[in-house]
Amino acid sequence: MTAASSTPSGATAGSATPPHERARPLAKGSVYPAKDLCSQCGLCDSRWVAYVRRACAFLSQNFEAMEATAHGRSRRLDDEDELYFGVQQRMLSARLQQPIAGAQWTGIVSRIGVRALETGLVDAVLCVGQSPDDRFTPVPVLARTPEQVLAARVNKPTLSPNLEVLEQLPGSGIQRLLAIGVGCQIQALRAVQSTLPLEQLYVLGLPCVDNVSREGLQTFLESASRSPETVVHYEFMQDFRIHFRHSDGSEETVPFFGLDTPKLKDVFAPSCLSCFDYTNAGADLVVGYMGASFGRQWITVRNPRGQVLLDLVEPELDTAPVTSRGDRRAAVQQGIDAYDKALKLPRWLAELVGFLVQRVGPQGLEYGRFSIDSHFTRNALWLRRHHPEMAERHIPAFARRIVERYRLPSP
Ligand code: FAD
Ligand code: SF4
Repeated sequence: MTAASSTPSGATAGSATPPHERARPLAKGSVYPAKDLCSQCGLCDSRWVAYVRRACAFLSQNFEAMEATAHGRSRRLDDEDELYFGVQQRMLSARLQQPIAGAQWTGIVSRIGVRALETGLVDAVLCVGQSPDDRFTPVPVLARTPEQVLAARVNKPTLSPNLEVLEQLPGSGIQRLLAIGVGCQIQALRAVQSTLPLEQLYVLGLPCVDNVSREGLQTFLESASRSPETVVHYEFMQDFRIHFRHSDGSEETVPFFGLDTPKLKDVFAPSCLSCFDYTNAGADLVVGYMGASFGRQWITVRNPRGQVLLDLVEPELDTAPVTSRGDRRAAVQQGIDAYDKALKLPRWLAELVGFLVQRVGPQGLEYGRFSIDSHFTRNALWLRRHHPEMAERHIPAFARRIVERYRLPSP
């Protein structure tokens, strides 16, 4: 059977052979089923493309069912922490007592991957290495050794076809897998989990927004950094500044509010402009930064399997309770209006706004809510303008409840 004939239905009824055993990956470079909204998550580069109609995060989403299957229940919409950050049994902030040099933050994610292999919890870790020719071009791998996990540390801030490695599972001897990934990858992975040749799957999620293609990243770096060709690492941090690290070890910081919004409005991938899975609803454990104070990482344990992953490193962490300060709401509303008008502030004004916001603005969980509100409102508006036919069914109930708190420009 050709991939084209196997993709549309993904039906199993009455057939002895499961659909993925009869399917073939789609040809690289062809138009994938989600068309312009495709995030290149990699599912269609594997035989599990057979299930794309129900698995693709941009064709059909069902957060409630995914959460119920993965965590035993869906999130409580009347609980502010769950409304924003998803199903949870524990939230904390942490840093590795001995940070891993070259990691994105302190390296908690890589350390969990290393310990999962060392302790024999899993046979392999799905992570993202880099191309030998370009540090920002992602190369998904099934790492079998701690060295391979460490080599994959640090974000490749571009769309990454993580699930293409599913193609390598049959016959690999891998029966227990730790998968690291962002929301769209994890939604598709959860949807096909029961068909994978695995005994155990652990999922370590990263929060994710505003991802870009490799070309989009170049536009961003050229617009935001004084030396785009030497950037080896960057992050939007909780002090409302982008921190660039250069190959000579120097650091450059730029205020969020100084970004060239008119130029950058079209840089983000359409998939990311239509995504509401910022905090990775389907993962067992989520490790990000945005709900923690400056310099620390933020951890959400969603279920007992997530706690098993955290147990691997908890003795090596300096942990603290999550905190929250400030009130984000006026800043979010002003940001909606400024973004829609594509305003670009002069550098001196951007520095001043950044200085003030850093001192009196939202911090800890409130910073996380600031970022979620800002992205969900922007994305709801983008969808209503660019894909009005799918907007209402694509915006999940929890996101709708958040978006309704703000006044949006007309579509
Ligand atoms: P490390 O130990 O350095 O490990 C990083 C891991 O990321 C590696 O295991 C690697 O496999 C994986 N990885 C690298 N690139 C990709 C990719 N393109 N797709 C999938 N996996 C990848 N956190 C927030 O709180 N808010 C955000 O807005 C946010 N946006 C993010 C956007 C992207 C594209 C990515 C990849 C991550 C984002 N994160 C965000 C997560 C955060 O930046 C850190 O990755 C996380 O806190 C782990 O830090 P660490 O030092 O423990 O990671
Ligand atoms: Fe396929 Fe993933 Fe693209 Fe959806 S986002 S069309 S599942 S590659």
